[in-house]
Amino acid sequence: MIYLDYAATTPACEEALQAFYNVSKSYIGNPNSSHKLGREAKAYLDLCTKNIADRLGVKESEIIYTSGATEANNLAIKGIANSYKRYGKHIISTYLEHSSVTGPLTTLQNSGYEIDYVDILDNGLVDLDHLKELLRDDTILVSIGYVDSELGIEQNIHQIGEILASYPHCFFHVDVTQAIGKIPVSLENVDLATFTPHKFYGLHGCGVLVKKDNIMIEPLIHGGVSTTPFRSGTPTLALVAALEKALSLATSDIEERYNYVKQLNKTLKEKLQQYKNVRINSTDKAVPHIVNISIKGANTMAFQSELEDYDIYVSTKSACCAPNTPSRAVYAITKDRKLALSTLRISLSHHTTEKDIETFLEYFDQCYKKLVK
Ligand code: PLP
Repeated sequence: MIYLDYAATTPACEEALQAFYNVSKSYIGNPNSSHKLGREAKAYLDLCTKNIADRLGVKESEIIYTSGATEANNLAIKGIANSYKRYGKHIISTYLEHSSVTGPLTTLQNSGYEIDYVDILDNGLVDLDHLKELLRDDTILVSIGYVDSELGIEQNIHQIGEILASYPHCFFHVDVTQAIGKIPVSLENVDLATFTPHKFYGLHGCGVLVKKDNIMIEPLIHGGVSTTPFRSGTPTLALVAALEKALSLATSDIEERYNYVKQLNKTLKEKLQQYKNVRINSTDKAVPHIVNISIKGANTMAFQSELEDYDIYVSTKSACCAPNTPSRAVYAITKDRKLALSTLRISLSHHTTEKDIETFLEYFDQCYKKLVK
C-alpha cells in the first residue's frame, strides 16, 4: 500500500496511541468533577495544556479544546461575528480556504454579513494590495489559512498580521491545520488560530482553538460549566494527551522532516512536469508536502480510482470538498474551469519513501497513457 493522502489525514503515531491508551486507563475521573479523581484528571489536563501552550508560544488560558478543526473554525468565525457585530459586519477571507471556513462564512452571509474574498496572485499568495483595498473600518474579521489544504501555499501571515494591526476592531483568524508539523508556526500577530492533531499523527475527534485572552467570542455549544466558558462539554483528556505527544514530536523534528520531504517533492515534480498535459498548481510558494496538479483532458476521479486498484491512495482535492465540483483554489490561481475540474493532490510525509515515489510514478505513467487522450 502506498498512501499519498497525508493532507487528508495522517496515521496516528505509536506514541499518541500509547498516550491515549495509558491516560484512558489511568485517569477515570471527569476533569470537571470536584472529587479527588476529577482533580487528578484536571491536573493532568492542565499539564498537557501547559505543554501544548508552551509549544505554540501562547498562554494556557488561550487554549480551547474542540471536536476538531471544523468546530474550531466555526467557533472562531461565528464567535467573533456574533460578539463584535456592533463594530461592523464585514469579513474578508480567500478562495483558498477549507470548507470549514467557507461554510460558516456563507452562513453568516445569509444572515446579513458582508463577505469579501481577496484576490490570489499567480504564485498562490494573497494579493496584499487588494487586501489593503478591501479593509474597512467596519471589517471585524480576516480569516486566512497559513497553508491551504489543496495547493499547500504558505501565506505571509506575519506581513498580513502587520497590515491588520492598524485596524483596532479587526481580528485575525488563521487556520494553521495544514501548517503545524510541516513548518514552524508563529502565532505572534494572530488573534485566533485553529487546528487538529489528525494532520500531524495525532488522533481524530480533537481540535484546538487558540484565542488570545483579550478577545471575547460567543460560544457555539452551550451547556454546563467546563474548563472554559467558551466550549461546554467534558474535556477529552485522553485525546488531549495524544495531541500533546503528537505536537511535541511533530514540532521537534520539523527541520529534518521538512528537508527530507523537500527531496521527495523535487523528484516528484521533476518527473510530473515532463507530461505535456500536466500542470503543476503547487507553486514554489507551496510547502513540499503537497503537490497539486491538473491533468488537462483527464477525469481525475478515474485516475484516483485506477491508482487505487494498484493500492495507491491520492485524492482529487481536499477530502471535505464535494466530488465533481471545480477546485476553488485551482480556479483562484488559474481562472480556468477545466483545470479546476481535473485536479489530483499528492501529499507526502516523512513516512513516504523514495521507493513509494518511484512506484507511484510508474503507475501514474500507466494511468496517463490509458486515460489521457
Ligand atoms: N482546515 C483545514 C485547512 C483542513 O485541511 C481540515 C481537514 O481536512 C480542516 C480544517 C478540518 O479538520 P477536521 O477534520 O478536524 O474537522
